[in-house]
Amino acid sequence: MWKVFIMKHRSKIRTYIVFFVSLYLVVTLNVKADAQKVNRKPKASNPADHSFPALGASDERKVEVAWNRFYDHAGMGGILARLHKAFPELTRLYSIGKSVQGRDIWCIEVTSHNVGDSDRKPGMYIDGNIHGNEVQGGEVVAYTAWYLCHQYGRLEKVTALLDRCVFYLVPTINPDARDFWFHAAYSSRSSRTGLEPTDDDRDGLMDEDDYDDLDGDGVITQMRIKDLFGRYKPHPNYPDYLMVRVNPDERGQYSLLGGEGIDNDGDGRINEDRRGGYDMNRNWAFDWQPNYVQYGAKEYPFSQPETRAVADFVLSRPNIAAAHSYHNSGGLILRGPGREGGEMSEQDERALRLISERGEKILPYYRSIAIWDDLYTVWGGELDWFYGGRGILTFSNELWTSKNLYKTPDAPSDEQQAEFVEYVLMGDGLIPWREYDHPTYGKIEIGGRRKEWGRIPPSFLLEEELHRNMAFTLYHADMMPLLKIHEIAVEKLEENLYKIWVTIENQRLIPTRTGQDITHHISPPDIVSLKGNDIKVLSAGRVTDKYFKRVQPVKRRPERVELNSIGGMDSAIVQFVAEGKGSFTITVDSAKGGVLTKNQLLP
Ligand SMILES: [Zn+2]
Repeated sequence: MWKVFIMKHRSKIRTYIVFFVSLYLVVTLNVKADAQKVNRKPKASNPADHSFPALGASDERKVEVAWNRFYDHAGMGGILARLHKAFPELTRLYSIGKSVQGRDIWCIEVTSHNVGDSDRKPGMYIDGNIHGNEVQGGEVVAYTAWYLCHQYGRLEKVTALLDRCVFYLVPTINPDARDFWFHAAYSSRSSRTGLEPTDDDRDGLMDEDDYDDLDGDGVITQMRIKDLFGRYKPHPNYPDYLMVRVNPDERGQYSLLGGEGIDNDGDGRINEDRRGGYDMNRNWAFDWQPNYVQYGAKEYPFSQPETRAVADFVLSRPNIAAAHSYHNSGGLILRGPGREGGEMSEQDERALRLISERGEKILPYYRSIAIWDDLYTVWGGELDWFYGGRGILTFSNELWTSKNLYKTPDAPSDEQQAEFVEYVLMGDGLIPWREYDHPTYGKIEIGGRRKEWGRIPPSFLLEEELHRNMAFTLYHADMMPLLKIHEIAVEKLEENLYKIWVTIENQRLIPTRTGQDITHHISPPDIVSLKGNDIKVLSAGRVTDKYFKRVQPVKRRPERVELNSIGGMDSAIVQFVAEGKGSFTITVDSAKGGVLTKNQLLP
C-alpha cells in the first residue's frame, strides 16, 4: 500500500522533501550567519585618524584640545606650552608676573615673527578671568591662540592679521582664584576675589570664616530649613531646582539660610569673612576711589601684584592699540566709561559703537552698552585704565547669556530654566536636597544647583561661545590702524630743489591715536621723516588743504613732521621742500600704527 501511495504521489513527495531540506538549510545557515553578525565588530582604530573637519576648524590639528571642557591653571599652561612647541615661529610664551600665591600669569604672544618687527606691529591685548569664578574667559583667550596658530597660512584673513598685528593673549590674570574655583568647593558666584587674605569683618583675623562644604560633595550649595513661618516652598514642578515664595495668604514651608557654612570663629555669624574679599577690577589707576566709595578697591591703585603686572606689561608695549577683557555673565559687549561723566571722546565713542555693532551681529543675543549708563558704576576698572590711562579702545564682554538656552531674544523665566535642566541636561546641574545636622540650626537640608550652572554654558554650547567671541575680537583687531604710504609726489621747483608730497593713508577704522590719546598726550605723535645722503630738508609741514595747498609749517627740525593722528579711514599729507640729489627714504613712525618706510629717487 505504501508503495502504491509513494508511486502515486512521487513528484509531490519530492517537492516536499526539497522544500523542507531547503527550509532546514536556510534556517540553520541564517542562525550561523546571525551568530557571525553578533561576533563581527569594527576595528577599534583611533577615530581622529578617520575624521574630517567641519568648517571653522583646521584639518591638521597639531595640538588637540577639547574645547567643550574647562582647564585649571596647570591645564591652561599646558595648552599654551604645547602651542608654543608646535608653532615656535608664531608664538612667544612668557610670564608677565606672579599672583599673590606665586602662580605665573602666562602670556602667549601670537604673530608671524618672520614677517616684520613683532614689537612694532599694532598690538591687541586680550585677557580673561580677572574675577576668579568667571572662568570661561580663560578658555576664550586660549582658544584664540589655538585658532590663530592653526589657521595661519590656511585662511588668508588670519594670515594677513598675523603678518601685520601682534596678539598678547593672557588667559587668566587671577590664576589663584581660578584654581580655587575648580579645586575647592565653591558656588557659581564665589571665588570672584583675588586671594590675598583680607579681614572682611574687622575682627583682626583674616579669611577665618569661609563657606564650608558641609556634606563634602565638592560644591557649595544652599541651606534651607523646614519652617512654618518661612516664606518659601519648593516649586511644585521643579522642587529640586527652584525655591519660590509662598502666596501671601499661604502658610510657609521653608526659610532659606544662604550658602553652606558654619560659624567657624564663633562670632555669631556665618560665612562673614571668606577667602580674599576684594575686587581686582576696582584696583586700576584711572578714576579710582577708595574702599569706602567703591567696595573692593584695596588700599591704593595697582596695590595687587596681578593688576600691577598687567599695567607694567601694557606700559612696556606702547604698540597696544586695542584691548579686550572677558568676564561673565549677561551677554554684553561693554564699553566705557565706568561712571557718569567719565572720560570718553565723541570720536572714540563712535569708533567703539561701530565695532560693537559688528559684535552684536557676530554674537546673537549680546547687547552693546556703556557700563555706567546701562549696568552700574565702576570706579577704577580695568577697562577704564586701558582707555583712560592708555588711550586704547577697549571692550569687556560679559560672556554667556541664558537667552542662548532657547535662542530667544528675552531671557527665559526661572521655570523655563528649570525645564532646560530637566529636559535638555537630563537633570545634570542639580544636587538633590538632603538632610544635614547643623551645629547652629539643627536639622536642615542642603542642596540646589551645581556651580557650573548659571554663569557658564553647558559643554555643547561652550565651543560656540568661544568661537563667536574670538571672531568679534579678531574683527576688533583687524580695525587697528593699517598704514600705507599711498603716494609720494615730487615736483621740481628749480635745479636741485624739490617739493615732495607724501600721502599716508589709514585703511582701517581705528585712528593711530584716539581722542583720549591726543588730548592727554599719552603716546608720542606720529612722525613722518625724510632722509637722504645728499639731501637737506629746508622746510616741511602738514598739508591742511590739498587744493589750495595750504601747509602748516614746522618750526624746527624740518626733516621730521609730527602728526597728531592719522584718522580712521582717512589720510594725511606731509610736504617737504628739499635740496640735493639722489635717493631719499620716507619713514612713518607711529607707536600704535607701526613703522613703514619707502625709498624713492629724485628725478
Ligand atoms: Zn567680572
